[in-house]
Formats: sequence, structure tokens, C-alpha cells
Amino acid sequence: MSRNEQNILIVDDDPVVLKSLKDLLATRGLTADTAIGGREAIACLDQKDYDLVLLDLQMPYVNGHDVMRHIHQQDMNLSVIIVSGETSFEAARDACSQGAYDFLRKPYATDELMITVNNALNEKRLEKHNKLIQSQLRESERLHRYLVNTSPDIIYILDKDGHFTFINDRIETLLGYDSKELVGKHYSILVHQNDMEIARYVFNERRVGDRASRNVELRLKCKDDSSQRFFDTRTLPIELSSMGIYQNEDNPKKKTYLGTYGVARDITERKIAEDTINFQAYHDLLTNLPNRALLQDRLSLAITQAKREDEMLAVMFLDLDRFKNINDSLGHVVGDELLQQVSTRLKSCIREGDTLARFGGDEFTLLLPKIAKGKEDVSKIAEKINEVLKDPFDVDNNELYVSASIGIAIYPRDGTNMDSLIKHADIAMYNVKDTGKNNYRFYSTDMTTPYFQNLSLETGIHKALENDEFHLMYQPQINIKTGDIVGVEALLRWDHPEHGSITPAEFIPFAEETGMIVKIGHWVLRNACAQLKHWRDIGLPEIRMSINMSARQLAEKGIVKHISGLLKDYNLPGHCLEIEITENTIMSDMDSVIHKLKALSKKGVDIAIDDFGTGYSSLSYLHKLPIQTLKIDRAFIKEVNMKHTGNSIINTIVAMAKGLNLNVIAEGVETQQQLDYLVEIDCSEAQGYLFGKPLTADIITQLLMQEPYAAPSSGSGLHSRHRTH
Ligand code: C2E
Ligand code: MG
Ligand code: MG
Repeated sequence: MSRNEQNILIVDDDPVVLKSLKDLLATRGLTADTAIGGREAIACLDQKDYDLVLLDLQMPYVNGHDVMRHIHQQDMNLSVIIVSGETSFEAARDACSQGAYDFLRKPYATDELMITVNNALNEKRLEKHNKLIQSQLRESERLHRYLVNTSPDIIYILDKDGHFTFINDRIETLLGYDSKELVGKHYSILVHQNDMEIARYVFNERRVGDRASRNVELRLKCKDDSSQRFFDTRTLPIELSSMGIYQNEDNPKKKTYLGTYGVARDITERKIAEDTINFQAYHDLLTNLPNRALLQDRLSLAITQAKREDEMLAVMFLDLDRFKNINDSLGHVVGDELLQQVSTRLKSCIREGDTLARFGGDEFTLLLPKIAKGKEDVSKIAEKINEVLKDPFDVDNNELYVSASIGIAIYPRDGTNMDSLIKHADIAMYNVKDTGKNNYRFYSTDMTTPYFQNLSLETGIHKALENDEFHLMYQPQINIKTGDIVGVEALLRWDHPEHGSITPAEFIPFAEETGMIVKIGHWVLRNACAQLKHWRDIGLPEIRMSINMSARQLAEKGIVKHISGLLKDYNLPGHCLEIEITENTIMSDMDSVIHKLKALSKKGVDIAIDDFGTGYSSLSYLHKLPIQTLKIDRAFIKEVNMKHTGNSIINTIVAMAKGLNLNVIAEGVETQQQLDYLVEIDCSEAQGYLFGKPLTADIITQLLMQEPYAAPSSGSGLHSRHRTH
């Protein structure tokens, strides 16, 4: 603000004085307003802001003192110079005590007056400037305080001993402390016990600039006060950046360390995200169970510990039986939901400290560390697992039955490292699968390694077809009432030159997946038909040949033509051939399957539903299909031994089959007790080890020639029927 922007008012009751003062100021470049008398002066002062008033004291009506009082009362920020004819000391004193800047007597000395005026104006200008700066400072501080306190980060200053001298309000929402209560307290009261070391390093940061601590992660404690509702966690992960504060920063000699300034950012959200990502890396997303990576991690730890403590541990490999069927027939959504439900039930079987993992698909692995009693402990858990899976699962209104095949390997007996334990548990599991599923078994060295674990199956199967490594075995099917052999089921075997006999369970699922089953299936059909023709040609009793057919093969274009071609080639009547398909084959493409089955049926070929009861649980499709036989799955027959359960299912199937005028074959009959029960409920046919395992064609030939039939293994008095000569 320059001098001539300042406002001056001259007050006197004498117009001559007014004019002379105004002129005097004008000669020095100052403009001024004038007021005749006190009343006019007050009116001017009320209208405009003045910086300086030259004021006469003695005026009629409203004198100079009255004007001074008014200025005082109105708290006007201006300087007053008294220019008065009054000469008494008291007058001067009174004026000064009322706040006058100076007192000049009339007649005044021009120079003296101008010096006083200039001084007063300068002083006022400085005062105004100061005020402005102060208010700017206040404003700026207010802004900074606002910024600091509304910052999403905790901002603090520590003195050189680590005590808070400032901390922003954010601490309140984040940790539940009042920022004021922390001032004077040592930073360590906020730090999580385990992060004290790292905190010491950042909270004592003396460096500045690029070398100062950046983004160090540590945990702060929330105020231990249950009335705070802000937090559910008692610690808060933060990321801290800090730097030293110095006095005389620019002068190395005088520079002194004052403390540390720091910013702490709440990184809870990021930590949660990181935890989620970590979780996902080590868990199966469908079931939330640990995945292969985590199991391997835990297993290797458990092995180290078992070694050190001289303990045993067990690895259980668990595969759901026929899960693929459910997935194929009811879809992945149902399959996924079922896996979730299964994993929940499995979890209920394990002890604290055990790890249940999902290896993908329907494979689960269970790590049982510290098994004090060895096998006994493990058997209990395996039995419990089979038990909890027994009740049906309700998925999307489907009543689904699930069982599991469990293989077990024990450290150190069956392996001392991770790979061998997992592999041996796997082999044991395949042994269960091969021999009836729904059971558990401990690994033993005489178990054969499944072929596909060792060699490329695909090339192997190609070679097998070329080199004639396949052959068929035939398992007798018996009429329960008469004991006659009424049919045989052709079962495929692979004699591998190096791996010996490989069971269909080991390569058929793979052959189905790759489509090679079509070629294999053709081979089976032709050879079975050739064998049947041979038996007929040598005059053996007429029997039925059952041939398993996979969905993939039935889906082949021209399959019906192919089969009728074979019947012609081998001169066979249609009714001596029975095609076995599973429920899932039917469900895979119902319309096309029905169409093909009807065409086959027209040629006289019988259709049987294999493994009945294990697939899609709806029975409503049965009457739509041209079928003659239901083969009750071995799993149900197995239950008969256990008296209390299972029987009702067989009973129902047999009764239902009778109602639909269907033939029923009970599969996997192994004991007399089972047979007795089947007789009791009037089941028509049976197949199983009790009557004979799958046998070579030659042995079947001999059996068919004998009369009456004596099973080679059991010696029960069953006999063949209808000798043709
Ligand atoms: P499947 O058609 O249900 O055949 C019955 C299976 O049960 C056979 O196993 C048989 O050896 C076994 N078995 C029979 N009686 C008993 C018994 O009393 N106790 C026990 N524990 N098991 C018994 P295998 O020969 O290993 O065949 C397994 C599966 O492989 C067959 O089940 C069938 O689905 C499939 N398969 C076999 N041969 C062929 C084939 O030529 N083509 C197709 N597509 N699949 C085949
Ligand atoms: Mg079969
Ligand atoms: Mg079967």
C-alpha cells in the first residue's frame, strides 16, 4: 500500500485552517478530506475508513474529545494527530491517554507537522501490513492443519527421544487414540510386539531425502478399549515413511537433530487383498481346501518332524467312485456342488492338525501326522470317511450316492519322502478301484503299479491293437433258479509285454477320453462274436454274449450297421447278443441313444443297463427304452453282507424290474449269503466270483461242456442249460 492510498481526514471548525492544512499536505503529494466541526467529522469517519485524522480539540457542540471517544468506541483502527490551539499540558496528556498518536500546537511548524504525519502514516502502513501477514499465516496454518488432520494417513512428529510432539487426528479413527493423549508418549506404545525391532529403525530415522525410510511395513496396535467400536482387529498393518528433522539444516556445523517426521499409511485393504491372493495360490477355489502346493509344503514339513521325533504319519489318497458319471450326466454345476458337499463331510472326519487337500477333479489327499497307533488310527479315519459318505447327497433336487476309494501309505514303512508316499497311496487307491471300489487299503509292495503311471498309454494302445496284446475273458452269468450258465460277459484284458496284465479300469477311461475306445470296441465286438460263433459251431448250449459298450462307441455313426454286419458275418441271431451300456451313456445324448437302441432292438439285440443304480438317479427314462436287462451294481450286492443297509435298494430294483418285465442280473455276487438273499427276493440272474471270475474262452468251453455246471472256484452245484446235442 503506498502513501497516497492512505486516507487522511482533517477536522477543524475553522475553514481557513482546514484549507491551509489540506494545501500543505497537497504540496507533499497527499490528498485529504476535510470536515468542519466534530459532527461532520463523525459522519465522515462512519462512512469511510481513514488511516489518519488531524484533529482540532476545541470545537463547538462536538469537540475533539468527543470525536476521539467516538473513534475509541467504534474501535476504529486509525491514528489521530491533535492539532490544537490548546496549550495546556493536561489537554495534551488527556489527548494522548485517549490514544492520540501525537499532539501539535497551533500554530504548527510545517516541517514538524509533516514529519509527524509521515511517521504516523508509515507506522499505520506497517501495522496493516503486519496484520495482513499474520492473517495470511493463520490462514495458511489453518489450511495445513486441515490437510494434515483430514489426511488418510497418520502424520506425526517425534522428538529426538522418540516421544510424539504432534500426531494428527487420523490416529483416532485408525487406532482409537485421542491425538492429544499421545503427545509426550513414546512411539513404542503403538507398535505391535513382534514389530518392535523394525519400528526402532524407522521411528528413529535420522536420514533425510532419498535415503530416508520409505514404505516400511509394520503393525500398530489399536487402543485396548472395548468401548471403541471402530475396529474388529486389534492390529493395523501400516506402511511407514519417515525422515529426520534438523535445526539449521543448511549449516553442517550447527545442524542439530530434533526428531523424526513420518507418515504412516493404513494398508489393511492391501493386506487383505494380498492375503486373498496368497490364499488362492495355496487353496482350491471350489472347496477352499488346501491345494496340491500347500499339501506338499505341509507334507514335507511333517516328514521332517516325523523323522526328528521318530513318529509315523499317513498319506491318504481318496478318489470318488464314478464321479465322472455324475459330471457327465448332470453337468458340472451339479458336480461342483457335490464336490463342495463332499469336502464338507470329509472335513468332519479329520483331526486338528490333519490336512485335507483337493488335488483337482474328484481326488482328495489327506495328511495325517503323528499317528501314534499307526494303522489302527488311520483305519478309523478311513472307515469314518466311508461312513459319512453313505447318506445320499441332495444336489439340486438330485439324490446322489457317492463312495470313495482310499489308498493309504504310511511313513516310514511305505516311503520316506514325499513323492514315494504320494505315489504309493495312489497305487493303493487304484488297487481299491480295481477290486470293487468303496473301500480303503494300505499300500503293500506286491501291489502292481497302474500302467498309465509308467508309460504313454496312447502309443501303448495303438501297439496293443497292432500286436494283438488284447484278449477277452468271459465271466459266467447264472440263472439263479436253475443254476444254468445263461450267458457270459466279455471283459477286455491287455497283456502288456512289459507290464503284464492291465485291467480295463486302468486304460478304458483314458481310451474313452481319447476316442481310442472306438477301435478297441470294434475289436471286442468282432472277437466276442467270433468266439460265440465258435461255441455255437461246436454245439455247446446256446448262451448269450454280453458286450460292454461305451458312450463314445455308441455315438459312432454306423454302429448299428456295424453290429448287424457282424451278426450276418458270423451267422448269429440277434437275441444271443446283449449290449451293456451305463445309465450315463443314456443320459449323454438321450434322443440319439434311444434311436440307436431301438434300431438294435429291431435286429433282436438285447440291451442291458450296466452298473444300474450308480448313475443318474431318475428311473423315469426306463420305460422309454427298449431294454431287457438291469445289472445291479456290485456296490449294492456288497452291502448285503453288512445286513443292516443296502438290501432295500436291491429289493426295490428287483421289484421294479419285475413290474417292467425286465431281467435282473446281480453283479459281483461273492458269498453264499448274498446268493441266498437274491433267491429270497426272487432275483433272476447273478454274476460274480461265487460262480466264477472272468475266465478264458477255453475254460468256459469246458464248463459249458460239463453237466451239471460246477463253478471252478466255489464248486457250487450249478449247471449249464440247453445242450444242443
Ligand atoms: P463291468 O461291466 O461292470 O464289469 C464287471 C466288473 O466286475 C469286471 O471287472 C469283473 O471282473 C468284476 N467282477 C465280476 N464279479 C466280481 C465279483 O464277484 N467281485 C468283484 N470284486 N469284482 C467282480 P473288469 O473286468 O476289471 O472290468 C471293469 C470294467 O471295465 C467293466 O465293468 C466295464 O465297465 C469295463 N470294461 C471291461 N471290458 C470292456 C470292454 O470290452 N469295453 C468297454 N467299453 N468296457 C469294458
Ligand atoms: Mg459290464
Ligand atoms: Mg457292471
